[in-house]
Amino acid sequence: MSEPKITIATAWLDGCSGCHMSFLDLDERLIALAERVELVYSPLVDAKTLPEQVELGILEGAISSDEDLEKARLFRARCRVLISLGDCAVTGNVPAMRNAFKLEQVLDRAYRENVTLNPQIPCVGVPALRCPVKPVHQEVKVDVFVPGCPPPADAIWFVLTELLAGHAPDPSAVSRFGI
Ligand code: SF4
Repeated sequence: MSEPKITIATAWLDGCSGCHMSFLDLDERLIALAERVELVYSPLVDAKTLPEQVELGILEGAISSDEDLEKARLFRARCRVLISLGDCAVTGNVPAMRNAFKLEQVLDRAYRENVTLNPQIPCVGVPALRCPVKPVHQEVKVDVFVPGCPPPADAIWFVLTELLAGHAPDPSAVSRFGI
């Protein structure tokens, strides 16, 4: 009988999706991976609910809104191992650039100063923004960090194969992948 597959869930918080694109850059290695794992929740699959228990959780992006924080806490509660994927998740990176400004200035810049047609700050449909923007580990415990903007596919492959083999990935080895 074949072994049960390892469950993986991914989400992007405040990120550009580039880290997920790098995951897809695993190319033919995705086929080998699919024999070992099941993607149970992700922007890459049509699954709307995070299962109660997941083996590996992968978060891309920083925590910039109440919605991001809620999702990060849910992943921490339901995933046995939580991975911060990419510089936005690991350091705050691009989303955290707004930390140098007041929120009103940021909203003015995005919704008034750079808009010619009916400039206005939306009051519905935009998740409440948090200040400051934080990397994931400043809100929830993270087990594995994969830096890079985006992390190279080889780094993602190394981390996943180490974890699937039951090893904690060596952080210095992860940082050797041309980041
Ligand atoms: Fe995009 Fe880079 Fe942030 Fe990944 S780390 S979400 S590629 S900006």
